[in-house]
Amino acid sequence: MINQPGFDTLAIRSGHTRSAELEHSEPIFATSSFVFENAAQAAARFAGDEAGNIYSRFTNPTTRVFEQRLAALEGGECCVATASGMAAITSLCLALLEAGDHIVSSRSIFGSTTTLFEKYLPRFGIQTAFVDLTRIEQWQAAIQPNTRILFVETPSNPLTELADIAELAALAHAHDCLLVVDNCFCTPALQRPLSLGADLVVHSATKYLDGQGRIVGGAVVGSREIVGEAIFGVVRTAGSCISPFNAWVASKGLETLNLRMTAHSRQAQRLAEYLQQHPRVEKVHYPGLEAHPQHALARRQQADFGGVLSFVVEGGREAAWGLIDATRMLSITANLGDVKSTITHPASTTHGRVSDTLKAEAGIVEGLVRIAVGLEDVEDIIADLARGLGD
Ligand SMILES: *Cc1c(COP(=O)(O)O)cnc(C)c1O
Repeated sequence: MINQPGFDTLAIRSGHTRSAELEHSEPIFATSSFVFENAAQAAARFAGDEAGNIYSRFTNPTTRVFEQRLAALEGGECCVATASGMAAITSLCLALLEAGDHIVSSRSIFGSTTTLFEKYLPRFGIQTAFVDLTRIEQWQAAIQPNTRILFVETPSNPLTELADIAELAALAHAHDCLLVVDNCFCTPALQRPLSLGADLVVHSATKYLDGQGRIVGGAVVGSREIVGEAIFGVVRTAGSCISPFNAWVASKGLETLNLRMTAHSRQAQRLAEYLQQHPRVEKVHYPGLEAHPQHALARRQQADFGGVLSFVVEGGREAAWGLIDATRMLSITANLGDVKSTITHPASTTHGRVSDTLKAEAGIVEGLVRIAVGLEDVEDIIADLARGLGD
């Protein structure tokens, strides 16, 4: 019987082939180019007749460790690493779309992805329709004959709403479209979109893959044909490649991904339960709570519920800002996916430029506070918030 390595074994052991130095930890190949044995080998490499490194904008051994490791964890054939999460999404669009094409996207996606879809892609003749991620009939109604991509982030930020990935994949394939899932919030430790039928997974390695807030990076995972050829072709040409150092940090982050995601989830669950019973908290958004409208879907689709939650404090903006300013340990920053807990007021930061009507429709109320729960002792996180909640 062939024993298939488990998730943690792949996270720790896959991707690295020891060099002649027999190093134990993966080395960083800080080199822009690679040399050839002779002129004939140079010619064969450039012609694509012989595999091997040429230049670090194309391939680099340290970057390859990260790519192979992430591909193994997502259960994909191929991975291409990029300079950032946004470079991953932009490269994917450049590789797969042309003038006249159309995207259907969840409305609740990362702010810069919205800007890419609304401001920049239309210049190249590519339009996007935005829908409510939880309403399959809206996705269905928005699909046109020229739709090529369905794009979703699940759970969403900051309200932790879920899309049913298997259902969206079936819809995409019935219309000859690709389903792209931004898997930042769950990571492959908690959710594997490709196994649910998605065609491509995109990542901001800046978040949980690194997990300690040290680098900016990204990646796309999927089939050899789409990722290994089409998207790789754009990245090596456009230069949206990751630096070997950043790839190294992200690949070392993957080694502890499962441990960290399990711990982030356990801490967030504890904090969500504390907030849920607090008299000054009107509502808590966290998929791990039974009161979450999609708790059953979250149980089915995810291995755990993740590290991000949001809640509505009684008293609107004044109370939300008061709570944020009363913290002494939590970091006031919009970033997430770090061992350090972060706290933010979506209505005046990440969603600050969204019109009041759209904010109201989207549930981004003035009393809403988002926390990306880190790995400090959870009782210290609770104590830091309790001060602002008047406990
Ligand atoms: C941060 C983030 C991105 C963009 O990633 P960068 O590395 O900042 O370019 C995309 N999607 C989600 C869900 C994110 O949180």
